[in-house]
Amino acid sequence: MSPDVTARRAQIAAGLAEVGRRVTDACRAAGRADSEITLIAVTKTYPLSDVRLLAELGVTDVGENRDQEAAPKAAAAADLPLTWHFVGQLQTNKARSVVGYADLVHSVDRPRLVEALSHEAVRAGREVGCLIQVSLDDRPERGGALPGDVLALAGRIAAAEGLRLGGVMAVAPFGEAPGPAFARLHEIAQAVRKEHPGAEIISAGMSGDLAEAIANGATHLRVGTALLGRRAPFV
Ligand SMILES: *Cc1c(COP(=O)(O)O)cnc(C)c1O
Repeated sequence: MSPDVTARRAQIAAGLAEVGRRVTDACRAAGRADSEITLIAVTKTYPLSDVRLLAELGVTDVGENRDQEAAPKAAAAADLPLTWHFVGQLQTNKARSVVGYADLVHSVDRPRLVEALSHEAVRAGREVGCLIQVSLDDRPERGGALPGDVLALAGRIAAAEGLRLGGVMAVAPFGEAPGPAFARLHEIAQAVRKEHPGAEIISAGMSGDLAEAIANGATHLRVGTALLGRRAPFV
């Protein structure tokens, strides 16, 4: 390995170790087992070489938020045993592409998107997992279904061919403590699960708020910065 790759590998390994410690501490505090948590490494803006290093270091799940970036990366990493998560806002005209590589789409927030994903999943002969993204701040322009619309959307996904309802996802709102917001998500998740027992996933928690997410029932964490470093700002 070149010195650059060796250094990057060590950097990512250190990030994984530190996140692992934080997960263990948060699980212990919440009386939960580490094995209940799936860590998704969010690789947006980072190169394929980082995806390969993550896989070498034992990461099994990676996430991306833009199809334009994710599609070629996933294709180039098709030899790796990775589960791909699509975590960004999704236009219906990208459904075909996303269904080609995503195992779990975290950002399903409207009936039209359910229809588009179902159509493309059937066409591709795939089953695609779907999480309902919930808006926790009454600002649905940032993506996410309003809490009052979640059960109806869950019914649509559960009934849609080619789709499997996995659970719910949210991003903590700006300017509010993440704990209470994630507690609301937990309640919504329980209501969904009552009607759809298989919908066990709660995708919540990023680099800055993973402990609060674990305290409130998160099963999947989406972590970028704490593993890979600060992303360059968009220009
Ligand atoms: C970028 C992103 C993350 C990761 O955020 P970090 O703060 O870098 O850990 C998680 N979820 C979504 C939806 C994202 O777009």
